Amino acid sequence: MWGACILAAWLVQPANLVVRDGDLTTPIPLLETQRGPMLRLEESLQAIGGALVRVGGDRYRWVVGGADIELTLGIAVARVRGKSEPLTAAPTVFDGKLLAPLALVTELLPRVALGYRYDARSGELRRAVLAAKAPVPPPRTAEPTRPPLVRPRQPVPRVVVVDAGHGGPDRGMTGPLTGGRRLYEKDITLGVAGEVRAALERLGVKVVMTRTKDTLIALADRGRMANEAKASVFLSIHVNAANPRWQNPGGARGFETYFLSEAKTDDERRVEQIENEAVKYEGEQEIDANDPLLFILNDMKQNEFLRESGDLAADVQASLGRVHPGPNRGVKQAGFRVLVRAFMPSVLIEVGFGSNRAESAWMASPEGQRALGNSIATATVAYLDRLERKGATGGGP
Ligand SMILES: [Zn+2]
Repeated sequence: MWGACILAAWLVQPANLVVRDGDLTTPIPLLETQRGPMLRLEESLQAIGGALVRVGGDRYRWVVGGADIELTLGIAVARVRGKSEPLTAAPTVFDGKLLAPLALVTELLPRVALGYRYDARSGELRRAVLAAKAPVPPPRTAEPTRPPLVRPRQPVPRVVVVDAGHGGPDRGMTGPLTGGRRLYEKDITLGVAGEVRAALERLGVKVVMTRTKDTLIALADRGRMANEAKASVFLSIHVNAANPRWQNPGGARGFETYFLSEAKTDDERRVEQIENEAVKYEGEQEIDANDPLLFILNDMKQNEFLRESGDLAADVQASLGRVHPGPNRGVKQAGFRVLVRAFMPSVLIEVGFGSNRAESAWMASPEGQRALGNSIATATVAYLDRLERKGATGGGP
């Protein structure tokens, strides 16, 4: 790509942007280019916040601080709330990573997102501590700025299917808890799913649970239930497990949200394989030559829900980023069987690593489960609101 060659020739000693979050400061290396200083956006997100998702060949969405910033490769204009915002340079891809102009985070971000201030004298981007880590307020009051009656009453109630991963003999992953006790994924997913349901119902959303007890439900049946319910959204809740071959498996932590597509990285393939293993509890009929996963995946690539699912995943990640103690591992994509048959915007949320002691204790606590549930529900409703404003009403095929 020509852009990369030009850029490479212009790279000089990098300077830093400093992100301050309370007492924590993180230096973000800058690349000097002929179009001014630029930064690697994806690698800066853990410090700056928000979730970045690729929504088309050359388009990206950065959901951050309540703002939704759309970037297009090669175009020095961002789109925010339907408005064009000029950038000092066009975003570009360099070394396979999205490179964005510094002014995107020092000028545009503080103007359009909540909780950011840039101090030009010290070169510090300051995050308001409250915006970064405060617990999500009760969902009823979560969005006080939105006028309550801007749209007519919904003719059809909103329906969200909440899927607690695993169950019955399929315990999912297992991890350490204090006092020699063990955490089982199937218990955490059921607890968090219950909190998602409670929060959504408080927000006037109808909820269908794939399971409310410790029972085994086939992966394909979970999506089928969502289709029958004519759900607007399908949320599948899971717990992550570190690969034992990693350098420090017990240290891995954080949250990530997947939408259905082909896994692209080793890490995505790892999670895909773990979650699809549940199929072995279902007998042979699920591995059917007439129903190969890849065929459906290829079909789904053309699917209208792919982009919507990516948007929903970005909303969930951004919302979890405000309550979760672990790092934001980003929006990811993989070929999950549980999502294959759900014909609506669908995501699979890995709410944390059960293999990490601190994170397993938090996920097993009522406070942790409530924070996760409220956060996922808030993101889902914000997503549905936006979908309706765009004119689509969701629903089944
Ligand atoms: Zn799982």
